Amino acid sequence: MEKWEDEFDPKLVALMHQTDEKIAPRLAAIDDQIVQNQAKVLKAFQNHRVAESHLSGSTGYGHNDEGRDVLEAVYADVLGGEDALVRPQIVSGTHAIGVALLGLVRPGDEILYITGEPYDTLQEVLGMAGNGIGSPKEYGIGADYVPLKADNSVDVPAVQKRIGEHTKVVAIQRSRGYATRPSFTIAQIKAMIAAVRAVKPDVWIFVDNAYGEFSETIEPLDVGADLMAGSLFKNPGGGMAKTGGYIVGKKDLIERVSYRLTVPGIGGDEGATVGMLSDMFQGFFIAPQTTGNAIKGAIFESALLESLGLDVDPKWDAPRTDLIQTVNFGNPGDMVKFAEAIQASSPVDSFVTPIPEHMAGYEDEVIMAGGTFVAGSTIEFSGDGPIRPPYTIYMQGGLTYAHVKIATMQAAQKVFFANK
Ligand SMILES: *Cc1c(COP(=O)(O)O)cnc(C)c1O
Repeated sequence: MEKWEDEFDPKLVALMHQTDEKIAPRLAAIDDQIVQNQAKVLKAFQNHRVAESHLSGSTGYGHNDEGRDVLEAVYADVLGGEDALVRPQIVSGTHAIGVALLGLVRPGDEILYITGEPYDTLQEVLGMAGNGIGSPKEYGIGADYVPLKADNSVDVPAVQKRIGEHTKVVAIQRSRGYATRPSFTIAQIKAMIAAVRAVKPDVWIFVDNAYGEFSETIEPLDVGADLMAGSLFKNPGGGMAKTGGYIVGKKDLIERVSYRLTVPGIGGDEGATVGMLSDMFQGFFIAPQTTGNAIKGAIFESALLESLGLDVDPKWDAPRTDLIQTVNFGNPGDMVKFAEAIQASSPVDSFVTPIPEHMAGYEDEVIMAGGTFVAGSTIEFSGDGPIRPPYTIYMQGGLTYAHVKIATMQAAQKVFFANK
């Protein structure tokens, strides 16, 4: 067989070799981080005595689902909490985050985001966008955010002034989501928590941890957050979980939000796991590796596409706290062309053409590329973004580093070297 890179323009191949050499030390550092996180996960599996009998799951009401209880204990242990809800009944990360936030508050309370505008789907959950039906406002619950400063940092004096008597929950979004700001590192989150506690020590601090898990070696709960949540279609699902979300944190808060997830009286005691547990355990076990592969892939994308003259963020050598790599195209045409190339490089549905369209929970049209084994999964290599200036593709995920590398080369070939 010919070498895999023979299909590409020799100039692109030369750039790839330069990129490989340049990023090698960064990739080695991510490999170290994978081992660190893998050790943490392995130890939790052993400490909680994960057994073959835990993998099969329950049916019906799901009473006494020992596997589910052990999975939740493992999640809590690894992610720095006292208890967790890890359920196939949580339909997505948005649902997990919404349940956590809305489960904590009561009429008269207020939820305050301090990291600028929340992620698009959460704006609808909180009644900041959309038709407002069922939003917290209908229950007399406030939801607001403090804009970031011009340099994209948290406006600490404004936050401290804004936190008041009714502020029950302060929310921090770790990953940039569909914003142009950088993602916030654990060190930055630690400083935010200190600033918040300085003015209101007993406020509950929630972190939207989507895309963050295992991208550093500690998590927001390790630096003082009370509760956090995320999606199993992202990092902690490891690419294996077929559905679900998680909420992890202080025991009393997990109990409180469990009554919002189901109903008072039942809380977390019911909820059959049917055939899901095996994939959820296995996915969490491999999640450090999968997340590391995705981050290594993002470093390659960043370095290669920057060398082709594109505006990328983060830069290849910048610290990372999530999976997201953005590339600005400046116009919708190139953005869509690049997305099409990503789709064509996928293992599933490679022959499909992605079309920008309106999606539930999003204000602008969104283009989503990525032929994934789990529908819409973004721990698998994918590229997406709302069609609005500066026409940014958000790339993330990658079950294997090799796939991200090949796909990025194919997309670069198609956009920059086709017909030349
Ligand atoms: C993806 C994401 C969510 C929502 O997760 P879904 O599983 O897509 O609903 C929430 N917040 C941030 C920052 C995200 O990146």
